[in-house]
Amino acid sequence: MKFQDYITNVPDFPIEGIQFKDITPLIGDVAAFKAAVDELTDFAREKQANIVIGPDARGFIIGAPVAYALGAGFVPVRKPGKLPREVLRYDYALEYGTNTLCMHKDAIKPGDRVVIMDDLLATGGTVEATVKLIEEAGGTVVGLGFMIELVELNGREKIKDYDIKVLMQY
Ligand code: AMP
Repeated sequence: MKFQDYITNVPDFPIEGIQFKDITPLIGDVAAFKAAVDELTDFAREKQANIVIGPDARGFIIGAPVAYALGAGFVPVRKPGKLPREVLRYDYALEYGTNTLCMHKDAIKPGDRVVIMDDLLATGGTVEATVKLIEEAGGTVVGLGFMIELVELNGREKIKDYDIKVLMQY
């Protein structure tokens, strides 16, 4: 499967200078979506994960089907104000300003083997924050899976101690 054939590059979206990688043709194609989910599920299975975590919002699109195919639980990591019960929070710096991610406090138990699934690895800030939430809750991050890696942004540097699987690189 040539996954790149299903990714559309959109220049200057959402702001000038960003080369936005649109995954909607891939997830809208029955064979490409299945192949992507299957490949990331194989990785999660090798890592013997029992929980899949997806960060808000495109992490839900890839994380939930991987969890289903694996026979694992799915845990959402969300922006503030979205989860209804007590949460763990992690604040992290962006190029301009800060961002916060939250996870239900009881979502991960000590001993859980967790894989994180997201659409795209850019600077790595989102996934690093997600790792911190899992580890604060006592879980073990056993792997990180992405459909796309933007190599020049060097997000890998932030998660270099972990096993990473990517389906395509730009
Ligand atoms: P980062 O925290 O910088 O690794 O980026 C986190 C999220 O931002 C990714 O999971 C994507 O959903 C989104 N994102 C960042 N850059 C792009 C891009 N060039 N095209 C599409 N989505 C992007």
